[in-house]
Amino acid sequence: MRELRLVIFDVDGTLVDSQAEIMAAMTQAYQSEGLTLPERAAVLSIVGLSLAEAFAKLLPDSDAPLRARLVDAYKGAFAGLRSNNQEMGPLFPGAQTALQTLQAQDHTLLAVATGKSRRGLDKVLERHGLTGVFHSEQVADHHPSKPHPSMVLAALAETGVVAERAVMLGDTSYDMDMARGAGVKTIGVSWGYHPVASLQADHIIDDFAALPATVDAVIGE
Ligand SMILES: [Mg+2]
Repeated sequence: MRELRLVIFDVDGTLVDSQAEIMAAMTQAYQSEGLTLPERAAVLSIVGLSLAEAFAKLLPDSDAPLRARLVDAYKGAFAGLRSNNQEMGPLFPGAQTALQTLQAQDHTLLAVATGKSRRGLDKVLERHGLTGVFHSEQVADHHPSKPHPSMVLAALAETGVVAERAVMLGDTSYDMDMARGAGVKTIGVSWGYHPVASLQADHIIDDFAALPATVDAVIGE
């Protein structure tokens, strides 16, 4: 029998194209404080961090009370979008098929490690019919923000898979640094929110169809 292996997925910018809802919620949060929204690329560069970390990066001179208000405003805006069913980010093309292919392998376990909250992740999984697909689900509520390796270490511990047999799939340098910090190999995706050159991933894929074979190549069959 082949040794168990684990594929850990980032969510925003990797599985789900959530940029429309993120930009909408950010716009509302900035407006609530009378601030000017940075350009799209700057906003998207912080996707994957926890919200407090994200605002600290976007507004380095801000004080903690302002950042706390922005976090609340962002969460409120997101909840509003959700209740109006405007939180509609689609899965990236081929994601569903790639997940099914990997899920069908007895020795391959799947996990997520996301800056989303538990509630946010549950909604996304439910909307895309992915509830129960992942053996381990690591969310921002219980961990320090990426790139701290905490979420990957927890996924390894929960599934009992050794680091050498695990790989992280993500679109940002935060994902790659988080994985490396836990001794886990990395696959970067070229369709996400950070420039590919900044990822320094072990492998880059341009299409979800390449994922199963790339996982074999990176951590062995
Ligand atoms: Mg991401």
